[in-house]
Amino acid sequence: MSDQPRVEIYTKTDCPYCEKAKDLFDSKGIEYEEYNVTGDDELFEEMVERADGRKTAPEVFIDDELIGGWDDTSARNETGELDEKLDIADENDSDGDGDGNVEHRPLIIAGTGIAGLTAAIYAGRSNNDPLVIEGDEPGGQLTLTTDVANYPGFPEGISGPELVNNMKEQAKQFGAELKNGIVDTVEADQRPFRVELTNGDVYTADAVIAASGASARTLGVPGEDDLMGYGLSTCATCDGAFFRDEDMLVVGGGDAAMEEATFLTKFADTVYIAHRREEFRAEDYWIDRVHEKVEEGEITIMKNTELVEVHGSQEGGVDHVTLVENDQGHPTDRLDDPETNEFEFDVGAVFLAIGHTPNTEYLEGTGVTMDDEGYLRTQGGDGGGQTETDVPGIFGAGDVVDYHYQQAVTAAGMGSKAALDVDEYLEDLERAESASETEAAAADD
Ligand code: NDP
Repeated sequence: MSDQPRVEIYTKTDCPYCEKAKDLFDSKGIEYEEYNVTGDDELFEEMVERADGRKTAPEVFIDDELIGGWDDTSARNETGELDEKLDIADENDSDGDGDGNVEHRPLIIAGTGIAGLTAAIYAGRSNNDPLVIEGDEPGGQLTLTTDVANYPGFPEGISGPELVNNMKEQAKQFGAELKNGIVDTVEADQRPFRVELTNGDVYTADAVIAASGASARTLGVPGEDDLMGYGLSTCATCDGAFFRDEDMLVVGGGDAAMEEATFLTKFADTVYIAHRREEFRAEDYWIDRVHEKVEEGEITIMKNTELVEVHGSQEGGVDHVTLVENDQGHPTDRLDDPETNEFEFDVGAVFLAIGHTPNTEYLEGTGVTMDDEGYLRTQGGDGGGQTETDVPGIFGAGDVVDYHYQQAVTAAGMGSKAALDVDEYLEDLERAESASETEAAAADD
């Protein structure tokens, strides 16, 4: 190994965030030692001890210093601190020659979920030389899904990470460049746009596709901040196996909650689903699968129930939770109702599956219209230009726009539309530029 700092990554099998951590170091050309803790109790204990009691993979160390899990590693990457620790901070000017110059691209795509990657495939094929900035969660939500059964063309189903990796390969084949990083700001009062990443890299771009997806929501209840990563998680596929034989609680009533609960039955003693009202939001397909598990005694459903506190410690993990229940539904809105029952409930792990918030902060100040939750408004309707925002040259696709369908295949559809809209926009731009050059030349004569 070279004289780079020593990087160690504890991983486990079937762990999307472990793959993200490894991809991050791979993309920086950094070598690392990987220790897979799956099925190795001694190694697992070593990880937990070195990671100050955290029972979640990955855990990253640089020169023996705990960097943390994926969230911590990616947060340090955002600030540029990770590159400093790796002694590669000054290699990060955008044109890569160390002089801090700004590189220009016809198109920058923010996000490498299904929408961003499909846009990259189409834009690459149209010779628009797309630069794709991977974002906070490279690969997007699908990397957290074990089994995608409804993506057309895969009758046997396909794993989320495999589908994403295939799309990445396809995008690269058509000339897209993928770069690790997170878009921090887009300055739209100048043309080309000035796009700055959180690590300080700056680019200019004629067009931007916002395909930066959405991030898992949390509840904001007491105990949540302290215990996130210590028995509380937003990713069952990442952390479920660490709580083998424990009782586990899944909060939520959508497809994600049903899928996670079903997945967790592999490890849990019993999986409990707490949903805040009587009806599930999830599709019948998932509700049926959950009911099969209920009949087998592996899942118990707690309707009209909400989580109000998580108890435990970073050393011992989650010990129990406080729940409230009211037959009318939404019990936290009825805390003064004498019918509302508050009770303590023993579980060893809690998984939140309560939806997502769109990642659009970097577009604030550009003039694009967003709704109260931060979803982008695009033109929509029929005909071309459906993915245009209110700012010419900024387009939106996938979960940053779509609060309703949120399917991999609809994100792919929107990604392709955005790339086609961009192609038309760039051609118009080129035509306008050459017309004004012709005019200027005529005026000079
Ligand atoms: P959803 O928005 O569909 O569901 C969120 C769930 O969490 C709802 O049941 C909601 O309750 C509940 N919830 C939200 N906020 C709170 C809160 N503060 N307290 C308690 N409960 C809360 O999100 P999902 O992530 O489940 O799904 C998003 C999209 O992804 C959907 O379109 C879904 O179809 C898709 N998906 C598909 C999968 C598949 O088919 N393999 C797997 C996972 C997701 P309420 O219903 O009362 O609003």
